[in-house]
Amino acid sequence: MTLPTIAAIEAGGTKFVISVCRGDRLGERMVIPTADPETTLSSAVDTVTRELQGDSLAAVGIASFGPIDIDPTSTNFGTIGATPKQGWAGINLREYFQRAFNCPVGIESDVNGAALAEAGWDIGGPINHLAYVTVGTGIGVGIVHRGAISNGASHPEIGHIRVPRHVEDAAFAGVCPFHGDCLEGLASGPAIFERWQTTLSDLDPHHLAHDIEAFYLGQLAANIALHHRPEVIIFGGGVSQTPGLIPRIRKECQSALGGYLPDLDSSDAITSLIQPPRLGTDSGIRGAYMLGKALLN
Ligand code: ZN
Repeated sequence: MTLPTIAAIEAGGTKFVISVCRGDRLGERMVIPTADPETTLSSAVDTVTRELQGDSLAAVGIASFGPIDIDPTSTNFGTIGATPKQGWAGINLREYFQRAFNCPVGIESDVNGAALAEAGWDIGGPINHLAYVTVGTGIGVGIVHRGAISNGASHPEIGHIRVPRHVEDAAFAGVCPFHGDCLEGLASGPAIFERWQTTLSDLDPHHLAHDIEAFYLGQLAANIALHHRPEVIIFGGGVSQTPGLIPRIRKECQSALGGYLPDLDSSDAITSLIQPPRLGTDSGIRGAYMLGKALLN
């Protein structure tokens, strides 16, 4: 029996990662810089076609930057929404790849895809209730509930919640074009750059920036814990990888919860709650693969 061939596409704001997978094994990861839609998408199709070596494709799975319409009943299913990325608003990724390969296309937000992959990863066993947070150019959160992606009318937008201000950060206006000082406006990579003209990892570990960042992300983790009671909250994305940041987020989260959730009121419990990605940087691409595979069951 030949194993079905699935193209996994992690569509990011700065790069597309593509892998053609035969069976459960992820193939080589190929990277295309995200330029204008036509250049990027035609290059993605060429990359997949070359990798197929004449084989046919059973499905495509896409984990995409957002906002994106993920409602299968919508006429805009698979369409990128109001993004500041030039030229991409209104582009229907699902239709583009369906037309190119004449096969079913599964599509979700990038964080939902990553959450699915982190929850389903078989090393250490699947996790039924999980949140995946990415902190980078923006802040996004995907929720897995009872092993499945949890959406409402659309994917959650938890990155734009309001959080209390750090006492030494009261003057900063925030960088979110919609809300100013929402969480993303205060704690995304661009917010860090706006205040200190560099990245968090390039600032001295004793710099106040680390305390401020951990404070905001700790509030986020506490809010997620209160809302969803996940078993695990994964912190992925570039900013989260700053050495020493995750332990600080754990401390701030425990302090924000104030002992209210007894099962989380110990440093051991918070350490197993808040974790770096189990899949390293592969959460998104593996999530895309799983979205394609789900169409074949
Ligand atoms: Zn916002």
